[in-house]
Amino acid sequence: MSAAIEVRHLGYRYGDGTAALRDVSFSLADGECVGLIGPNGAGKSTLLLHLNGLLPETWAGEPAVFVGGCPVTPDTLPQIRRQVGLLFQDPNDQLFCPTVFEDVAFGPQQFGFGAKEVRERVAQSLAQTGLAGFEQRAPHHLSVGEKRRVCLAGVLACDPTMLVLDEPTTSLDPKGRRELKELLRQIPITKLIATHDLELVVELCARVIVLDGGAVVAEGATVPLLSDETLMLRHNLERPHILRHLHPH
Ligand code: ADP
Repeated sequence: MSAAIEVRHLGYRYGDGTAALRDVSFSLADGECVGLIGPNGAGKSTLLLHLNGLLPETWAGEPAVFVGGCPVTPDTLPQIRRQVGLLFQDPNDQLFCPTVFEDVAFGPQQFGFGAKEVRERVAQSLAQTGLAGFEQRAPHHLSVGEKRRVCLAGVLACDPTMLVLDEPTTSLDPKGRRELKELLRQIPITKLIATHDLELVVELCARVIVLDGGAVVAEGATVPLLSDETLMLRHNLERPHILRHLHPH
């Protein structure tokens, strides 16, 4: 069976010459939840943008990203965008409609579903994200946690096969963080979570990929990898407190 997502020798340079990704390869099996960690500037956001074809801007050479075995190319983009739901780091970048209903309905409308199915999908994904009754609220008046859940509802309304999340717990208070974590835990599809929140990684991800300087520098089971103090410090990361009582040394 094909991997849910596979990245093969992906490299990327921004227009100003910054080499943001260098020969990145990895894959996620169906249903896996994997953490993507690394210091600021490691290339995490750049990598996520490649997973549903928001990058590169121009296409040349062999495809480097495969979703369910299908290469991401200009021809497959519409289908890939529907399959790979991307949650941006800043929910304000993702929300642009006057009401929650319209924002969550936007994706399914773009994908051509009829009005009745759009309404059903919106109702279902709002219920799933704990936002039933929010339909007529203005997204820009909501809390960060609620905004994130609206974004997630919008993505889920398209019925993706995988979720790609960029720093989903940034700016959340403890309650918002706990709610989001539980929500993610209950979504059974493949997930790749880029984050500095290593406790979230320990709680949700069985495996992690460490990116530094645009390259994959380590990859493996979460607890042993995050407990490796030398490796973590080398990449400007810290062993999370949650592991300290499990592995005191
Ligand atoms: P991370 O998400 O791990 O913090 P990024 O993917 O944002 O890392 O950045 C990777 C590298 O690419 C960094 O050196 C960053 O400065 C650079 N970079 C990010 N966005 C741009 C851009 N639009 N133009 C030029 N360089 C960029």
